[in-house]
Amino acid sequence: METKRIGIMGGTFDPIHYGHLVTAEAARGQFQLSQVLFLPSGTPPHKDPAQVTDTKHRYTMTVLATLTNPYFEVSRVDIDRSGATYTIDALRILQDLHGSNVRLFFITGADAILEIMGWKDSEELLGMAEFIAATRPGFQLEDRQGTIHHWFSSQNKRLHILQVPAMAISSTDIRTRVHNGESIRYLVPETVDYYIRKNRLYTADVQKAMVDYE
Ligand code: NAP
Repeated sequence: METKRIGIMGGTFDPIHYGHLVTAEAARGQFQLSQVLFLPSGTPPHKDPAQVTDTKHRYTMTVLATLTNPYFEVSRVDIDRSGATYTIDALRILQDLHGSNVRLFFITGADAILEIMGWKDSEELLGMAEFIAATRPGFQLEDRQGTIHHWFSSQNKRLHILQVPAMAISSTDIRTRVHNGESIRYLVPETVDYYIRKNRLYTADVQKAMVDYE
C-alpha cells in the first residue's frame, strides 16, 4: 500500500493570513501531500498566554480561511488539550490517528524552526516527521544560525526550505494594522477580515470582543 503523505501546518495563526495559505498550498504541491492539516496551537509553550488571542477565535479564523480548499483541514488536537501544547505531543496523537502507513511533514515558519533544538523531546521529534521551514525568498537560515543544518544532518535528517514570496505578510503586522485602524484587505481572506472586525479582535477592547462572541 502506498504511504500517505500528510502536511501538518503548525502555527499560532493569530490571525491566519494569505502567507500561511500560500505556504501550505506550495508545500502540498512540492512535497506531493494528499492533505494539509492546519494545527492551531493551544497554549504555545514559548508565549505569554495573555498575549495570545483566545483559541476559539484562532480556530474559527483558521476554519474560515481554509474551507474553500478541499485539501485543507483544521485539527483540534492542540486546542482541545490543556496545558502547554508541545509539537511532539501533537505529532504522537496524529501519528496514532493516521496509523503507521503515513509520512508526516511538519510545516512552519523558519524563525520557529531555528529554535527547534530547544523544543520538548527534540531528537525524537525529528524522527517523527520531515520538517519544512517557510521563509521569504532570499532569507538564508545560515544567516541566522549555521548550527541548525548541522544539527539536522547530525541526526541524519533533512530540513527542507520552502521560499514563499507571500511570507512577507506577518500576523504581527496585521494585528498592528487592525489596532491602528488600517486596512488588512488582501492580506487575509475576506471572511477572516469580517470575523476580526465583527469580534473586534486586536483592538484595545479585547475583553469586550470576547463577551460579544459568547
Ligand atoms: P512564532 O514564534 O509565532 O512564529 C515564528 C515565525 O514563523 C513568524 O514569522 C511566523 O509568522 C512564522 N510562522 C508561524 N507559523 C507558520 C506557518 N505555519 N507557516 C509559515 N510561517 C509561520 O511561531 P508559532 O506560530 O508560535 O509556532 C510555530 C509552530 O511551532 C507551532 O506549531 C508551535 O506549536 C510550534 N512550536 C513548538 C514548540 C515546542 O514544541 N516546544 C515551541 C515553539 C513552537 P506569523 O506570525 O505571520 O505566523
